Amino acid sequence: MIFAGIDIGSVSTKAVVIQGDRRHMDMNPTGWSPRTAGEELISRLLEGQGCRFEDLGGLFVTGYGRISFNLGGEVATEIKCHARGVAALVPEARMIIDIGGQDSKVICIDAAGRVLDFAMNDKCAAGTGKFLQIMANSMGLDVSELGCLEDPGASRQINSMCTVFAESEVIGMLAAGAERAGIIAGLHQSVARRVAALARRLGVKGDVVFTGGVARNQGVARALEAELGLPLVVPGDCQYTGALGAALLARDQFGPRA
Ligand code: ADP
Repeated sequence: MIFAGIDIGSVSTKAVVIQGDRRHMDMNPTGWSPRTAGEELISRLLEGQGCRFEDLGGLFVTGYGRISFNLGGEVATEIKCHARGVAALVPEARMIIDIGGQDSKVICIDAAGRVLDFAMNDKCAAGTGKFLQIMANSMGLDVSELGCLEDPGASRQINSMCTVFAESEVIGMLAAGAERAGIIAGLHQSVARRVAALARRLGVKGDVVFTGGVARNQGVARALEAELGLPLVVPGDCQYTGALGAALLARDQFGPRA
């Protein structure tokens, strides 16, 4: 039987298909239409496995665009899906820090992957992937380049709490001749400070797993480790944990009982 999960995010849409022991995954930019992004992605992924939508034994859809998905399936919150996905990848995980395009969240889970508590910042772009995209753009870079271009030894503090003012601050620093590497390290630190404060509110305990597209940025991972004073586990498929959790929830609900 085949099960699938789709995570329609603000920046990217991710899908995971589970077929026996095998997992297939892919992603698309979400673009202007979350519905089209989700539907095109799952059709392409299934086609690649020689399957059709009708062959699915179960589907869960999550992410901010989940309500726009029209082809069917169950919906689940991102919190529940991330918890399920991370528990499968890192059984020792007790805290998840997920930084996506438009929000950052911290989730506490138990040994079975059940959600015990969570905290979320979805009110302000600072501390999210969008903040880093805007800053990368103002420095003539792609967001994927930030991690390897930073110089933590020359970090420049970013004082503005607001994304618009922080962008002006970065532009001002560049105009004054500051090196990009130090500014980038300061930006990573600013994201890490905000998200670490969210984590401390819940009480940091157990193994901490870092997920979401921003976990692909090793500079943010480094800064978060320094803020929290502990090592983070970053799974190889860190951007897919929500979609993976959704696919596993589909299998839990519709798959054969063990
Ligand atoms: P959403 O679910 O809201 O679409 P994601 O979890 O997919 O968000 O994360 C999107 C964010 O991940 C982007 O805003 C960007 O900051 C970051 N990102 C995406 N790809 C990369 C990459 N290759 N390297 C570093 N950061 C990345």
